[in-house]
Amino acid sequence: MEFYSPDTWREALEVKVAHPEAVPIFGGTDVMVDLNFDRERPGAVLDLTRVPELGEWDDNEGRLRVGAGVTYTRIIGELGDELPGLAMASRTVGSPQIRNRGTVGGNLGTASPAGDALPPLYASDAEVELASTDGTRCVPVAEFITGPKRNALRPEELIAAFHVPKAEGPQQYSKIGTRNAMVIAVCAFGLALHPEQRKVGTCLGSAAPTPVRAREAEEFIEGILEWETRTEIGERALRRFGELVELAARPISDVRGTAAYRTHAVGVLARRTLKWAWDEYQRGE
Ligand SMILES: Cc1cc2nc3c(=O)[nH]c(=O)nc-3n(C[C@H](O)[C@H](O)[C@H](O)COP(=O)(O)OP(=O)(O)OC[C@H]3O[C@@H](n4cnc5c(N)ncnc54)[C@H](O)[C@@H]3O)c2cc1C
Repeated sequence: MEFYSPDTWREALEVKVAHPEAVPIFGGTDVMVDLNFDRERPGAVLDLTRVPELGEWDDNEGRLRVGAGVTYTRIIGELGDELPGLAMASRTVGSPQIRNRGTVGGNLGTASPAGDALPPLYASDAEVELASTDGTRCVPVAEFITGPKRNALRPEELIAAFHVPKAEGPQQYSKIGTRNAMVIAVCAFGLALHPEQRKVGTCLGSAAPTPVRAREAEEFIEGILEWETRTEIGERALRRFGELVELAARPISDVRGTAAYRTHAVGVLARRTLKWAWDEYQRGE
């Protein structure tokens, strides 16, 4: 197996063009599992951990650009105020060791419907920055993920970063697993309130072939919320919101849970996360 370990971003992009079959690796928390179980035997591996730019993030007038190699531990420690939903999701990933190595770039690369970083990115309309020696392009995250474990990366491209607006209101993430830690989501739900735009972003995780927005639920609740007076959301509206989220689910039954359970559970998570986020908004936090 060839092992490439470039020191610069330019060099990494040149290696990828010259060896499009090379499998990129950052934290290795997905790649190494595939290698160890012999699910993959790539002819070449492209180690990106020495490329400094991938570990950087910056704030451009309220829009964050976060390098693909920023780990979950750093998202929690450095971006908890700016991206509270993603930080909550990051806290649920694996164990401290996995959070120290694993990255959002790797979660995007794997494109699992259960990827915990994905619902917060969908709920805030994040974009994924893809690069090749020919230049860069930004793709909305919902277009980047094209199917279960499939994404829109071209063979000569690498994920450079993701772009996401800083939270302008409360955000939530809730996940159901078969135990408290080190668990792949049975299902999950991300929610972001965008008070300036009077919008609500949602995303179901592990309840369809890809993460999915619950658009009807978003439109319904946007018509109900009293952003000025911050009035309590009624029980009936909360229930209806949950039902519309359930309608967006297209789950499978597998070892972690049945389709019926997942559908029911995302409705419950949707009601809870909306209530928690709205309570926070009412308190002016
Ligand atoms: C014990 C354990 C527990 C886990 N728990 C969770 C969990 O709770 N929630 C969860 O979502 N995931 C979990 N995972 C999966 C994994 O940790 C995450 O998906 C993580 O985000 C992967 O990041 P990484 O940097 O390690 O990716 P890697 O393994 O390095 O790469 C993952 C994929 O992305 C590609 N890739 C990486 N970087 C780039 C780049 N810059 N450009 C192009 N392609 C790239 C790789 O080629 C590969 O296809 C767990 C894994 C383990 C082993």
